[in-house]
Amino acid sequence: MSKNHTEIYHLIDNSFISGFSESHIEYMKSYYYSFYSNYCISKNKSPLCKEKFFTNMRRHKVKLVQICCPYCGNMNIWILEGTISLGDSLNYCTSCGKKSASDNAFFQISRLIRIRHFHQSGLEKLKELSSEKDLKLLSYDIYQLELIEITSIIEVSLREFFVCLVYLTFQNTKNKYFDSIIKKSTGNDFMNIGKANNHYKKALDIDLRNLISCDCWNNLLDIVEIRNTIVHNNGMIDKKFRNTQTYTKIASMIEGNLIFLTPQIIQSYFNYVLELITSVTKYYNSLYENTLHSLIANFYFNSHPLNSDNCTWASLEDLIPKH
Ligand SMILES: [Zn+2]
Repeated sequence: MSKNHTEIYHLIDNSFISGFSESHIEYMKSYYYSFYSNYCISKNKSPLCKEKFFTNMRRHKVKLVQICCPYCGNMNIWILEGTISLGDSLNYCTSCGKKSASDNAFFQISRLIRIRHFHQSGLEKLKELSSEKDLKLLSYDIYQLELIEITSIIEVSLREFFVCLVYLTFQNTKNKYFDSIIKKSTGNDFMNIGKANNHYKKALDIDLRNLISCDCWNNLLDIVEIRNTIVHNNGMIDKKFRNTQTYTKIASMIEGNLIFLTPQIIQSYFNYVLELITSVTKYYNSLYENTLHSLIANFYFNSHPLNSDNCTWASLEDLIPKH
């Protein structure tokens, strides 16, 4: 099982345990140990003593797996009996079916690569059979479809990262404001980097502009301008579009009222999307690594019946005196 701390499943071994802060570690060790010994007792096995249990954890027959899903808040502990490699098959959250934000983003990207590959070989074949004029019309549709696909990658990725970042930042205090941002009021805000950034800034105090180059930012805006023209105006450019900076930048691709995208421009847009996703993934991963253990410790501490009689979300850091 990978030691990558950004995934949903974490083998509870010594390295994982050492990730808990000084104020959380004893609480979590007791929690894990009682989970383990209860399991052994229920199966008529005799549990290892606490000290032995926390020594060479990867070698024990009965291992624990911590599940922590930043998408749906699924928090659970599983028993893994057998070899560690058995745990490799644990990938998707059993509650919501997702894997990890970066994984979902790269799934989207590889989808586009496959589509483009398919398109390219189709166009190669058609070259032999079609006149130049026919070919131009065929590729006109194909490159526009690819551009639309690119905008949906931006939308899906930025929305998913947003959901996860909200969870990491606010943990169990998700409230109606966030639900409405994510589900209702946003429409397709997340495909437009400018509108997406408003949500990131308002909810999370993250400025996406700081994560990507200025060039990338401007090109992401162009992508969505072109996409809107294609989708809402059947590909015909109008007066409004002629007044945009995007128009000036792609003027050489415009014939009459139509935009003839080229494979080069699609490739360049694709590279900007990669830049965006890579940067947000990096940001997310570092936040996730830094937050994961306190997220888990706070969850178990607050779900304990002795501690959950009031509705406020107490932090372990505040409640356990520092040594
Ligand atoms: Zn989940």
